[in-house]
Amino acid sequence: MAEKESENKIPDPDEQFEALSKKIADSGMDMDMGRIEAAYAMARLAHSGQLRRDGSPYVTHCVAAADIAVDMGLDEDSIVAALLHDVIEDTQLTYQDIARQFGEPVANIVEGVTKLTRVQYTSKEDEQMENLRKMLMAMAKDIRVILIKIADRLHNMRTMAYQTEEKQRIKSLETMEIYAPIAHRLGMQKAKWELEDLALMYLDPTGYNEIMKTLESRMDTLKSFMQNMETKMKKRLEDEGLQVTVYSRIKHIYSIYRKMYAQKLDINGIFDLCAFRVIVDTIPDCYNVLGIIHDMFKPVPGRFKDYISTPKPNMYQSVHTTVIGSEGIPFEVQIRTWDMHRTAEYGIAAHWKYKIGDSGVKTGDEEKFAWVRRLLESQQESDATDFFHNLKIDMFADEVFVFSPKGDVINLPAGATPIDFAYSIHSAVGNSMVGASVNGRIVNFDYVLQNGDIVEVRTAKNAAGPSRDWLNIAKSGSARTKIKQWFKKERREENIERGRAMFESELKNKGLRMEDITDEEILPQLLKKVSYSSLDEMYAAIGYGGMAATRAVNRMKDELARLHHVSGKKTVLEKVTEAAERRENQARKNIKPVHGVLVEGLDNCLIKFSRCCTPIPGDDIVGYITRGQGVSIHRTDCANYARREFTPEDIGRWISVSWADEIKESYATAITVVSRERSGLIMDIATIFNTLNTKVRTINARDTGDKSIVNITLETTGLDELKAIINKLAALPGVVEVNRNGGKK
Ligand code: MN
Repeated sequence: MAEKESENKIPDPDEQFEALSKKIADSGMDMDMGRIEAAYAMARLAHSGQLRRDGSPYVTHCVAAADIAVDMGLDEDSIVAALLHDVIEDTQLTYQDIARQFGEPVANIVEGVTKLTRVQYTSKEDEQMENLRKMLMAMAKDIRVILIKIADRLHNMRTMAYQTEEKQRIKSLETMEIYAPIAHRLGMQKAKWELEDLALMYLDPTGYNEIMKTLESRMDTLKSFMQNMETKMKKRLEDEGLQVTVYSRIKHIYSIYRKMYAQKLDINGIFDLCAFRVIVDTIPDCYNVLGIIHDMFKPVPGRFKDYISTPKPNMYQSVHTTVIGSEGIPFEVQIRTWDMHRTAEYGIAAHWKYKIGDSGVKTGDEEKFAWVRRLLESQQESDATDFFHNLKIDMFADEVFVFSPKGDVINLPAGATPIDFAYSIHSAVGNSMVGASVNGRIVNFDYVLQNGDIVEVRTAKNAAGPSRDWLNIAKSGSARTKIKQWFKKERREENIERGRAMFESELKNKGLRMEDITDEEILPQLLKKVSYSSLDEMYAAIGYGGMAATRAVNRMKDELARLHHVSGKKTVLEKVTEAAERRENQARKNIKPVHGVLVEGLDNCLIKFSRCCTPIPGDDIVGYITRGQGVSIHRTDCANYARREFTPEDIGRWISVSWADEIKESYATAITVVSRERSGLIMDIATIFNTLNTKVRTINARDTGDKSIVNITLETTGLDELKAIINKLAALPGVVEVNRNGGKK
């Protein structure tokens, strides 16, 4: 229930601060009181002369906010920051002044609160509200900023009576739509309820007063009922040997109010106006209590909820049940452990309390704070201690939230620029944009938008339209798509010109000429490959950025190569190869062979015979310039050569080579004999080699079911000799086939 401002007594700040100091001392929290006093002194001096609407010195608000922060159980830096939370906004003091005396963490928190304070909201539809909440969370970065902002708002709402009606309404709406949901999201039940009740008081005073009046008129009945039930439950539970604390309370006004509207009831139709809470030490006790209460009273079907086994998204845990008490009055009972109770009351702020409870004990921190982490959906921080100190809200790290001049919140990808903003409003706005300003200052189009920025776009009827650079500046895919669409539509002629130039230059890079692709038999097939019906269509696409010129040329080149394979038609590649051969024939005259091989244009280069196809004199061969290992020689019927890629890089590496007149004495090559399995096979093979005087380097045999496969590496002078060997082997009894290794199938 909303706390009422106590009379019209003007609070004395020094007295108030004394009470705060005592509260901190009583709480057992280990804080440097000198530092907190210094913060109070600084705030008092800075705000001196400033008054609140009720006539009290401004600094009383700061002490009150700090007081709420203590109730929330926040840490020392937070208390210091709460005392100073308005000095950047409302006094001469700066970030540096705070940082110098209290350190950067405190200054950062105060600066964060200031930023949130500067955000202006106007009432909007639900979706906008969700964006606003996200924006605030995203802006806060440090969770303590949000918590202090909630403390600030709570005190302002408590003292709202002195404001104008207009301001009461605006602030209450904001509180209802923004701050109460954030408190809820952070699991801070207590703050949420108070914010809601206070806001309701100003938003619907009639409804609020009606509920208050009814409650007051029934207060005696309710009180005695609650007292009665409390005693009954406590006695029975203790008789059963359980250690319990039983509380009862009237439900908060706004929850009754919402129920009235949701169920279209007047307050007389709502029976469960009060709720009971049983707090125990352990989870098994929770369920024991539940069993006993269901034994004492008749449960209302369908009202049992187990948030212990399935916690709410904000990590709230409890067991809820509704039962019928004496006189047929239903009431709700919430059963939870003390741990769950703290989490429910203070939510995310509770972890500071935990820390004090466990002073010195680090183990288990990770587990305890795990829920905070899940709550924040943060995937980044993993170290528990680090996490504690850098508790960051980074759940919206990949988004940025900005305002339109009308106050709409626009949600854009992080890194977005005014161009993204303009196109997110409407493509017509983007296309006619001539300038942009952020927070009233003119910015460049590549300015990176920050959370909370107010963005304004200047447009002109006769604007030149987007420039191509915008495609690089825009961060969102949708803006880029719209820009491309514009180029596609508005600038066809220009695009064709531009696209043609880009295409031709790329063609040239790949060693092709226009004549190579415009052959009337080939062109339709090439266009089909790039999915355009004419060259102009394709140029237009390249021109506006719908297709990269390299991609178009690569696809065409691949297709040319394929057509060459299929039809045997002389294509460009072949012509290029022929030209290369001619050049090479001229060059080779002066080249000395290496291992009996002549390499085009290269004298005395490093040569190796590939292992895959082991070429020997008499084979048609081709060379491949390897990376750093000279030229590798392959047969032209090698499987690897057949599979070569027709990329410009790769195709250039394949070069012509040939056997010289003088060759080596012998070359190694590999063959495979496949035979039916039989005894004496290896002996027979060995005999043939012996007879032919063939030198064998390795011979390996393996059986696969009914077959024997024999791999042989042997030395030979050339193809003629090898053929003779193969024929002999093939004639052996049982031999199915004899193959050279590495040939294409
Ligand atoms: Mn304030």
